[in-house]
Amino acid sequence: MRIEYDIKLGFKDVMIRPKRSTLKSRSEVSLEREFKFLHSPLEWTGIPIMAANMDTVGTFEMAKALSEKQLFTAIHKHYSITDWNVFSSNCPENIENYIAVSTGISQQDSEKLASIFKFNPYLKFICIDVANGYSEHFAEFVKKTRAQYPDKVIIAGNVVTGEMVEELLLSGADIVKVGIGPGSVCTTRVKTGVGYPQLSAIIECADAAHGLGGQIISDGGCTIPGDIAKAFGAGADFVMLGGMLAGHTESGGELIEKNGKPYRKFYGMSSSTAMEKHVGGVAEYRASEGKTVEVPYRGDVENTVQDILGGLRSTCTYVGAQRLKELTKRTTFIRVNEQENRVYNE
Ligand code: 5GP
Repeated sequence: MRIEYDIKLGFKDVMIRPKRSTLKSRSEVSLEREFKFLHSPLEWTGIPIMAANMDTVGTFEMAKALSEKQLFTAIHKHYSITDWNVFSSNCPENIENYIAVSTGISQQDSEKLASIFKFNPYLKFICIDVANGYSEHFAEFVKKTRAQYPDKVIIAGNVVTGEMVEELLLSGADIVKVGIGPGSVCTTRVKTGVGYPQLSAIIECADAAHGLGGQIISDGGCTIPGDIAKAFGAGADFVMLGGMLAGHTESGGELIEKNGKPYRKFYGMSSSTAMEKHVGGVAEYRASEGKTVEVPYRGDVENTVQDILGGLRSTCTYVGAQRLKELTKRTTFIRVNEQENRVYNE
């Protein structure tokens, strides 16, 4: 046994210090980024915020709404090949720049991915997603997928430490997804004791990825727009959201009514709800590592997106970053023991 005494930080442990700035208004701030990738020859331009590949968030409807604002959606892996073909035949032009096809790492997953690409060769992004990105089998799968699809942009995760980011990038990933345990409907830390505070995970993983010319996605733990700003400030190239995009018209999850008010079900992808829905129950050898909650229905996602982007533009104005790209360089975090004033919160 060994103990690392360095304190690791989460979003709640810091604030961003304001800095002198020449910007006059939030309207002068650009949130668009352009990326070239480590392996794929493709290039990407957009606002680097992503909907998570959960069946309650990463839906085709969400992708249509978010792509109109240049935001990205990792489409969940439970759509059938037919669902994909129907979507493709009705889908608006240019959406391929804003969606990824998600996959697990079984032989069956790999065959399904091949069929989706066979019928829809225009798709560009693959998101190889497992709860625990530390297995050798996972890195092998990334290698195999890179060999099979030399031109696609490959996202792989999740991990939380620099050495594993490097291994995945060297195995063929372009972008590594970072986060173990911070998610709003995740119970990994409760069930296993494993995890890593998200802000420190971002700082350490971004450093490793950028050293090799790769990118990272901060995945999980953002509960308010300020957390997204902190994630970018810490060095995230993309920020992925689950809970913040749940409960909308475009989200999945059963609509229910309680005391006359509408709610939507939202659940972790390893919750018993998800496992019963997709694989007929929780296998005997494992525990569910996700919860099921009911979130108030919040209308169209467009309003939430506007709120998020407005907050982020404001952060950039406070620190004098004219472009989102400059935010990390302009960020000084201060360690704190308080966050917002909650006197009028329930
Ligand atoms: P959120 O934005 O809601 O805080 O976090 C979303 C992320 O939580 C997802 O992108 C995914 O990485 C993670 N997640 C989703 N479902 C589960 C689950 O059932 N268990 C765990 N451990 N993580 C989950």
